[in-house]
Amino acid sequence: MSNRSQILRCSECGVKNKVSLERKESPVCGSCKSKLFFPSSPLTITDANFQELVEKSTLPVLLDLWADWCPPCRMLAPIVDEIANELSGKAIVGKLDVDGNRITAGRFAARSIPTLLILKGGTEVDRIVGLQSKEAILSKLKRFL
Ligand SMILES: [Zn+2]
Repeated sequence: MSNRSQILRCSECGVKNKVSLERKESPVCGSCKSKLFFPSSPLTITDANFQELVEKSTLPVLLDLWADWCPPCRMLAPIVDEIANELSGKAIVGKLDVDGNRITAGRFAARSIPTLLILKGGTEVDRIVGLQSKEAILSKLKRFL
């Protein structure tokens, strides 16, 4: 049996907790005993936290590369929000603003946005370019869950 775990940051005290994905009961913070929650909305990913939140994630990560000035990105946003909610605990969903985070955007050579990257351990395993339906995104992503 695998022993997969995920780092969750406590929303009460900010301490990072390593949580086994096999355990059935809901996890609590080792420091303040508050309940820990898997994110149910997209995380804001930046050049600064990419390593911690994406590379170190044992869950697959769906990363939305977007920009403020891009209308299709804004149309994709509610779909990405829904996926983050539906796959809470199974996948991490993040959003990266390509204008403010050029190192990561450049690393994945995102020439057109929106681009959705599917990453495992920080390595790209698939990508979805352009505005697509939720069903199309989920069917690709579910191969990696
Ligand atoms: Zn805590």
